[in-house]
Amino acid sequence: MTVRVRFAPSPTGYLHMGGARTALFCWLFARKHKGTFILRIEDTDLERSTEEMTQGILDGLRWLGLDWDEGPYMQSEGIPLHREAALSLLEKGLAYRCFATPEQLEAQRQEEQAKGGQWRFDPFSRHLSRAESDRLAAEGRPFVVRFRVPDDAVVRFVDHVYGEQERAARDIEDIALLRPDGTPLYNLSVVVDDIRMRITHIIRGQDHLINTFKQVLLYQGLGAPLPEFAHLPLILAPGKAKLSKRAHGEVVAVTTYRERGFLPAAFRNFLALLGWAPGGDREILSTEEMIELFDLDAINRSNAVFNFTEGDPENWTDPKALWMNGVYLTRTPIDELLPYVEETLRRAGLWDEAWAGPERARFAATVDLIRQRYHSLLDFATLGRPYFTEYYAFEPEAVQRNLAEPRLRGWLPLLADRLATVDPWVHEAVEKAVRGLAEELGIKAGVLINAARTACTGQKVGPGLFEILVVLGRDRVVSRLRQVRARLASSGCGPGWC
Ligand code: GLU
Repeated sequence: MTVRVRFAPSPTGYLHMGGARTALFCWLFARKHKGTFILRIEDTDLERSTEEMTQGILDGLRWLGLDWDEGPYMQSEGIPLHREAALSLLEKGLAYRCFATPEQLEAQRQEEQAKGGQWRFDPFSRHLSRAESDRLAAEGRPFVVRFRVPDDAVVRFVDHVYGEQERAARDIEDIALLRPDGTPLYNLSVVVDDIRMRITHIIRGQDHLINTFKQVLLYQGLGAPLPEFAHLPLILAPGKAKLSKRAHGEVVAVTTYRERGFLPAAFRNFLALLGWAPGGDREILSTEEMIELFDLDAINRSNAVFNFTEGDPENWTDPKALWMNGVYLTRTPIDELLPYVEETLRRAGLWDEAWAGPERARFAATVDLIRQRYHSLLDFATLGRPYFTEYYAFEPEAVQRNLAEPRLRGWLPLLADRLATVDPWVHEAVEKAVRGLAEELGIKAGVLINAARTACTGQKVGPGLFEILVVLGRDRVVSRLRQVRARLASSGCGPGWC
């Protein structure tokens, strides 16, 4: 059997974490079994579906690296086939026309509820003879086509995550297949499409578990073999509230992660662990490892919790997600990382074409040096700013701590002169020059080192000073050391000596 799985989002909203995780699990499963991953856009709710949402979903999947092998199919294109299937069920007597008006149905529902029961069907329509039903239809009476749920059956299926499922058919109402205007309804369209697309495994959110009983009946009615099912646990908000687009807005939108500097591989890794544990304590998994280890039966039944902190811009997402992004920023091969950093710098207006040309090696060395402490690509444009532009700010605390000594007013220009003669501009030579000057001046090297760090980056902490100086290059270092007094004076946070 060739595995065929589909991701079937409705384009009535943006791609959110839950949808993205479903897509990822479908994709991992397809890739693991060398099967086919199909994308089907369920746009049959024409009023609520938009082209913009469809594009957003496709962009999100592309960003996540979840490439599909077939599609995107638009569900609306199959409407004639869905209708045909409903009519064939009608023909076989497995479905019938339900002529009850919405008011009648409402009254019936209320009556059943008052008796402590549950509405299942309109008795008048369900028991109409075929001739009578044809006559009313010919008169132009509006009707819904409904599937006749058998009275005494038990609907069963085995779910890879939730195990054996069973429900008495008498607890299931007759399934609406076609609206009075002939348009198909969800359960029908999904089943007809899954059959004609020869889907072997249906992997989707747990919120669809309840629909599956109805869909199993439709498979049986249409004489098609059942696919396998795996329903994924919910993703909950902190405090175990249901995660919702409305309440949790951008924290759950995939685009937010892209905009806030996530690497797709990191986000993919984070998503994969929402409900699936590969075994052991392993958390960082390459895509290849995920594909190899992925198993529907290892998906956890209990709901996953997404621990973001709302309203705190510093901790806007799950700390584990940020930590993971940091790990990916450090471990991604530098050549793979550079295009992402480039995009970030371009967006921040900090990009210099030279870094794509003659300064490429220096750009790579800079990124490699500073990435160690970062958690987001955006950090390259904020914390990393002094490495990419002359317009950087001085942290007042750093100035107070490292530049307070009044004699630095004379020492820093001296250091600049000394460094101006260093050639070649390499770690050892730079270090020798700095330490040599400190010795001559009879001061601790640390004083010069800390002062030079703050003078050249505005910051208090960062990578080792000599590495910083090497990647900044001699010209920029010398000029920054010479200008520090004037810059501090104009920045308003200078020490007494400037
Ligand atoms: N279109 C449905 C949704 O967005 C999914 C249908 C399915 O996966 O069966 O929730």
